[in-house]
Amino acid sequence: MPSSLNSPDMTSEIHARSLDAQDPLAAFRDRFYVPPDTVYLDGNSLGLLSRDAEAALLGALDAWKRHGIEGWLGADPPWFTLGEALGARVAPLVGAEPEAVVVTGSTTVNLHNLVATFYRPEGARRKIVATALDFPSDVYALGSQLGLRDGDPERDLVLVPSRDGRTLDEDDLIAAMTHEVALVLLPSVLYRSGQLLDLPRLTAAAHERGIPIGFDCAHSAGAIPHELDAWGVDFAFWCSYKYLNAGPGAVAGLYVNRRHFGRAPGLAGWWGYHKERQFDMAHTWESAPGAGAWQIGTIPVLAAAPLLGALAIVEEAGIERIRAKSLALTDYLIELLEASGLTAAPYDYRVGTLREHARRGGHVAVEHAEGPRIARALKRRGIVPDFRPPDVVRLAPVACSTSFHDLWRTVRALREIIDAGEHRQGVAGRGVVA
Ligand SMILES: *Cc1c(COP(=O)(O)O)cnc(C)c1O
Repeated sequence: MPSSLNSPDMTSEIHARSLDAQDPLAAFRDRFYVPPDTVYLDGNSLGLLSRDAEAALLGALDAWKRHGIEGWLGADPPWFTLGEALGARVAPLVGAEPEAVVVTGSTTVNLHNLVATFYRPEGARRKIVATALDFPSDVYALGSQLGLRDGDPERDLVLVPSRDGRTLDEDDLIAAMTHEVALVLLPSVLYRSGQLLDLPRLTAAAHERGIPIGFDCAHSAGAIPHELDAWGVDFAFWCSYKYLNAGPGAVAGLYVNRRHFGRAPGLAGWWGYHKERQFDMAHTWESAPGAGAWQIGTIPVLAAAPLLGALAIVEEAGIERIRAKSLALTDYLIELLEASGLTAAPYDYRVGTLREHARRGGHVAVEHAEGPRIARALKRRGIVPDFRPPDVVRLAPVACSTSFHDLWRTVRALREIIDAGEHRQGVAGRGVVA
């Protein structure tokens, strides 16, 4: 991987082009529909469509056209076991054996089912540890799970605070794992600042205290290698429409460690029944042997099919090479902002993302007091970021579809916006979907 660190002319356009010329993943970009004249830096909210994902979706439609109901067993791959088949392909991306992963549900629904399974309040152990920087859906879901179990979110939901408003200190998270805690649920990567938490350390600390622990991997699946089996994580879940590029609302994924196979899912449904006997239609429950047991209802085939194609790209590129390029892209973006003087007056952009690779996810949080106006000014220039309150412009380069030159254009635009005073023009505040 090319290093942008010690090149004297690193702010030049030629340097950006030379990084692209040396990039072993550069050719994958042609397999994506990058909107014309656009720099797309929102792959951590909605990854772009690839020709591969498109073909997989069209293939599923064609199978429906040709087979009708026979597609459940006759389609390639058969719809009846599509969740398991896709799970086996996602498993290497999260460091899991094939049976420990299934593609099912949505991020939030999977969270509900897994928390309903693993939250077992007993005596004085009633609390759930999460964080003050969590994605809101996770906090809502945990609150409602507590409500279903005679808990009170005010008392029982411990949201570990951040010391700086951006990051979490693993020591603080571990200190919150007291004898009153029945479950720990943490993000792998924080959705705003992009901090990557130390998953193996947190898992070991929870287990030393006898507490099950799960992770929301929405911002790491497809971007970062994981070792969920080796770390001994109890459960995890993620979505397929961010770095996995399977399309808006694509069917999500979950992981359950083998030592929990056979446990009754908190929210059971017939799709989690032992597949060979599912159509016996018995009223007595029999869990599917692996993580498949945590499926609830019929897989939305048309919302799962694009993942078949999207995964082909990830598999060809390799998750290790994806991570290496992702780090090279975010290194380059951070260094270019600094080397171009944009982190000082009068530009005053701040980088809210940590520099250490081991603590960085896939995106860069660029903070500015006029964040919403800057995000809109970028969009007017064909650069697509997203905005997260209060002041974060998130820039997410995606290894297989973003070039170094895209980031060079972005930094140039960030400079121009301030030079032209566009950060002071137009309405302040953000739109409905930021
Ligand atoms: C994107 C995201 C979600 C989204 O949940 P859905 O159920 O897919 O709407 C949940 N949690 C985190 C941390 C996310 O980043």
